[in-house]
Amino acid sequence: MKCPNCGQEAPEGAAFCPYCAAPLQEGTSAPPTQPAQAPPTPAYAVPAVPTRTSGLAIGGLVTGILGIIISCVFWPIGVILGLAGLVLGILGLNEIKKQPGMQGKEMAIIAIVLGALGLVIALLAVVGVIALITMGPRISSIFGEIYNSLQ
Ligand SMILES: [Zn+2]
Repeated sequence: MKCPNCGQEAPEGAAFCPYCAAPLQEGTSAPPTQPAQAPPTPAYAVPAVPTRTSGLAIGGLVTGILGIIISCVFWPIGVILGLAGLVLGILGLNEIKKQPGMQGKEMAIIAIVLGALGLVIALLAVVGVIALITMGPRISSIFGEIYNSLQ
């Protein structure tokens, strides 16, 4: 090995140079500096495309729920809301089918089911109202007769 101080050839493994007595071990066998470990790069790239939920499906779901509630109270508005929920759900489902990244398929299906359910409740309400109008006087007369017989 070469002495870094005087440049003369010194024997391998010597602590000091035999020519100029400069220390040879210091600095000559410095451990190689370890390269800073880079953070592991993810194997897969996270997709930057944001997932969108179908607005039609959300609208259909909200309308469908409202349709069921309103159908129990006032059926004419319930029918409109039930139909709207049904139509919005179907439109939402079509929109989701056409656009691969779009979310809300379950929501659209629920909207269709709730819309249909709202319509059924409204229909039952209509039948109930008709029954009450046609049967009402008879029922009251029957109750009247029972009331009279008890007197
Ligand atoms: Zn030397």
